[in-house]
Amino acid sequence: MSAVIPIQLDQGCSDAPVLLERGQREVFCGLTGIIWLHRKMQDAFFLVVGSRTCAHLIQSAAGVMIFAEPRFATAILDERDLAGLADAQDELDRVVQRLLERRPDIRLLFLVGSCPSEVIKLDLSRAAGRLSERFMPQVRVLNYSGSGIETTFTQGEDACLAALVPVLPISIQPHEPELLIVGALADVVEDQFARLFTAMGIQRFAFFPSRRSTALPAIGPQTRFLLAQPFLADSARALEDRGARRVPAPFPLGAEGSAAWMQAAGAAMGLSAERVEQAIAPARQRAELALAAHRALLAGKHVFFFPDSQLEVPLARFLARELGMQLSEVGTPYLHRQHLAEELAWLPAGTALSEGQDVEKQLDRCRALRPDIVVCGLGLANPLESEGFTTKWSIELVFTPIQGFEQAGDLAGLFTRPLTRRQLLAA
Ligand code: SF4
Repeated sequence: MSAVIPIQLDQGCSDAPVLLERGQREVFCGLTGIIWLHRKMQDAFFLVVGSRTCAHLIQSAAGVMIFAEPRFATAILDERDLAGLADAQDELDRVVQRLLERRPDIRLLFLVGSCPSEVIKLDLSRAAGRLSERFMPQVRVLNYSGSGIETTFTQGEDACLAALVPVLPISIQPHEPELLIVGALADVVEDQFARLFTAMGIQRFAFFPSRRSTALPAIGPQTRFLLAQPFLADSARALEDRGARRVPAPFPLGAEGSAAWMQAAGAAMGLSAERVEQAIAPARQRAELALAAHRALLAGKHVFFFPDSQLEVPLARFLARELGMQLSEVGTPYLHRQHLAEELAWLPAGTALSEGQDVEKQLDRCRALRPDIVVCGLGLANPLESEGFTTKWSIELVFTPIQGFEQAGDLAGLFTRPLTRRQLLAA
């Protein structure tokens, strides 16, 4: 009898150790999520209950958008509120009343908590309940926290969607599975995905958040949800609490990631792999072709990720597997092992992973490794450029449509551009 020879499966970074760091951080708070959420949810308004600091943050993050009468604002807590001289709940009622009179187009109002509102323990959920009672059915009022104490950058979207889940209607569809795509995607990406699902033969699918609050998707035990973004831990838990089940998949970045994501969607809806492949093949080929040109420039180059959006692990996987880049370090604000299981298995074994931040130590590691390109926030980008590093502003990866086949080339372009620019300037 021959002995069984154990087969060593390459599990990538599934069980890899992660450097946990806690210290000074260079990240946004969750309020910044409002910038893309208000564009996606076209009849919603986001009222931050915070300080002038919060108003300044939103204004600078939104850039020129603030001149287009956007659907967000800050109710500024002043000294009287902070000292308890005024009843903040009464003040808030007055502000909301004035706002809804001025903007009758609003159907969904979010009261967004901030560090100051949390520190003085202003009960925004009570306020939301009271105001909802007063303004329903015209306007529903919900609340979530986007504070820097509780949330980092994209976690603001997670908190917002998690607040919406309890008000989603109950699906009356009896037994057939229905597919829910979770995570705010650019409209153009959403339309492309919808076309591919239809080509695959999936009829019962919906996107969450929906563009209008009057058309929220219904959910129930037959709902299978597929995350389109890696930072939705609380939303996923809230959906599971309502009986929906998550479909495990890597995230739809690059040709390979998008194909695997589509395959997961098809399998959850009972379709064969061949059927899905047939529907996605032309788009997949276009994506692979678009990537080839970038691969020539990026292959072998070293990339270092500072933590920012939780998109770092899927992005690193895409850069390593589809463009041949070397990963110096992949930093992420939070590492959700379960939601990232497929991604971690795809990362090259031995990749240096870090969670959280101690910015000075991380800068030292980055300087020692001298990567060809550093992905980091705006606060670090120019100082690192002045030290001779090539940087990519990570915020662009959140604001630009990067998911799906048609965007794969554009996504690679976000990394080739800074390298090409540096070459041109050096020439
Ligand atoms: S919520 Fe907190 S971290 Fe964010 S801008 Fe306001 S004070 Fe700053």
